[in-house]
Amino acid sequence: MATTRRRFLSASAMLAAGLRGRLRADAPDQKTAIPALKPPTHPVIITRETGDETIRQAYAMLLRGEDTLEAAIHICQGREDDPNDHSVGLGGLPNEDGVVELDACLMHGPTRQAGSVGAVTNIRHAARLARTVMEQTWHVMIVGRGAERFAVDEGFPRENLLTDDARKMWLLWKEHGTGWWGPGLDNPKWKPEAPAGSSPRAALLPRHPAPEQMSMVTGRLRDLYAQADRMGIPARLRHEAAMQVLWPTTGTIHVSALNTKGELSGATTTSGLAWKIPGRLGDSPIIGAGCFTDPEIGSAGATGNGEENIKVCGAHTIVDAMRQGASPREAGMEALRRIARNYNNDMTRLRYLDMIYYILRRDGAYAGVSLWSSRGDGARKTYVVHDGTQRTLEVDYLFEGISQSIHPF
Ligand code: ASP
Repeated sequence: MATTRRRFLSASAMLAAGLRGRLRADAPDQKTAIPALKPPTHPVIITRETGDETIRQAYAMLLRGEDTLEAAIHICQGREDDPNDHSVGLGGLPNEDGVVELDACLMHGPTRQAGSVGAVTNIRHAARLARTVMEQTWHVMIVGRGAERFAVDEGFPRENLLTDDARKMWLLWKEHGTGWWGPGLDNPKWKPEAPAGSSPRAALLPRHPAPEQMSMVTGRLRDLYAQADRMGIPARLRHEAAMQVLWPTTGTIHVSALNTKGELSGATTTSGLAWKIPGRLGDSPIIGAGCFTDPEIGSAGATGNGEENIKVCGAHTIVDAMRQGASPREAGMEALRRIARNYNNDMTRLRYLDMIYYILRRDGAYAGVSLWSSRGDGARKTYVVHDGTQRTLEVDYLFEGISQSIHPF
């Protein structure tokens, strides 16, 4: 055979092999540590309390054979549409400039696709928009002005998401507490108490004060009530506004959904931390932190201090622990222990943090786990499961007690 022809044939063979690709014979075993998980005999949804009908409706969608991600988005959208839910969508609390910025991410098990949006403005349905990123582009994540423009191009209505109530709460915060976002708890220079001689505002104000701290907290609350009255904030909103000023909370909703074919999806949506620095992203738009779904293993998501969850890649850590054989509860505890380890288990800092993980395995096993056991009123923290009946269940937890939440002064 002439040399040129031989070269041509071997080049074509290499090209063909290259196009097809081939797994090398000594490639490590790709199998999971646990035997294939059998799908359950009934669909399962895990999420938080929504106070509406969407969980029941989403379950009916799964029974009808509708897509698991569509069912998860249905629940997210119920919260995004509720102007009285100040943690997500319309009515979400704004950033320090008074602009509502939304974050969301999701994963679709059957196609192994993912989508995410961050700091998106003027678009109510952040979870749906994340799905549109997933389906209409080759990107996974679009943020800020680009996300808004993409949404409008895709037919999403542009609207002002700052409701009158959220605006009033923001105005009260501006009067009282602007401009403190550091140093963070993870900064070696962070101190639990105000340095001597500094403004009383620099002292940490515990959300759930010990008896001797009670007068300090009630004093601050009284000031805020008076200020709210002067600003014309209605009495029905006064307490909530004061609480949001002192301890800016968020809420977020995560949903994981599983059907009887073993198809899994997860979605998380939020307006993030109230009064945040514009452009701040928490864990909710981060695939692997706020949400992670592996169609062979399970799905997990989080609500709580996003910064802490990003540092342990919480949702991915959990799903991966289940891949190694951990139960949903053990897997969740592993992620929580990593958060605690990042603080060398220092309780003076950990008491200001909080995290809940919502965990669903492909065989229908589930768990809700939390860094701290209880809410401020002493009741156990909860999560919601629907697997034929909708139930509110108490979380499993790492630490017994109440998280204090951090406040921004
Ligand atoms: N994880 C959300 C964030 O950090 C907030 C929350 O879930 O409360 O933005």
